[in-house]
Amino acid sequence: AGMSSQYLEVRDLRVTFDGFTAVDGVDLTLMQGDLRFLIGPNGAGKTTLVDAITGLVPATGSVAKSGVELIGKKVHKIARLGVGRTFQTASVFEQLSVLQNLDIAAGAGRSALTLLRRRGSVSPQIEEALEITGLGHLRDKPAGILAHGQKQWLEIGMLLVQNADVLLLDEPVAGMSHDEREETGNLLRRIGGERTVVVVEHDMDFMRAFATSVTVLHAGKVLAEGTVEEVQADPKVQQVYLGT
Ligand code: ADP
Repeated sequence: AGMSSQYLEVRDLRVTFDGFTAVDGVDLTLMQGDLRFLIGPNGAGKTTLVDAITGLVPATGSVAKSGVELIGKKVHKIARLGVGRTFQTASVFEQLSVLQNLDIAAGAGRSALTLLRRRGSVSPQIEEALEITGLGHLRDKPAGILAHGQKQWLEIGMLLVQNADVLLLDEPVAGMSHDEREETGNLLRRIGGERTVVVVEHDMDFMRAFATSVTVLHAGKVLAEGTVEEVQADPKVQQVYLGT
């Protein structure tokens, strides 16, 4: 097996809100192929950590993507460097078709109208995103009619056509049915191989089934890190997750 490359290196990351430190010196190394779950109690700093990596909140320390520093760069610049995220509430253009949503995401930065006027061929990249997300049969349907789970998958597809190779997903299976969770896990495995996926999640069963590694945050710091088994056996983790 070849050496897998390092995709994201987070060092001593700190985020402070009015004197309150929400992310308190976090180190994180993500490798190609990682399906890393980020867990921890409410208020642990998970969302703020994702916000800091994607440029939504100011932070100090370092976030290097293949050696390129992201701290201090704007959100769209970070996205163009291949670091993409989803939010808990999927934001797709409901009136537009699945294909048009992907088209707009692929051309982010160009004029949406120009893209909409263009007819005909679908790029191989968009075909791939349709295939990976299993939305091919719905390509001409308005995104507004998609089921909750399908909207989340479309949003992931929109990151794929933007060439994101570090994907940060905020509670992707919240509100999903059991079958949709399974489908989402399989989708994450399909996109994982050549990329890196970080999943902020509360669903422990979902984590056990699909995580390749886990980072536990608590009070803004990394409390534990390792495989699912290692993290579950850690007394410090058991203490913050009494009863699970
Ligand atoms: P988690 O995602 O793990 O539940 P968050 O990252 O949302 O945790 O929040 C971490 C801490 O930072 C919490 O105590 C929260 O109240 C605080 N926090 C988050 N965003 C802000 C903000 N914009 N202003 C002030 N405090 C915030």
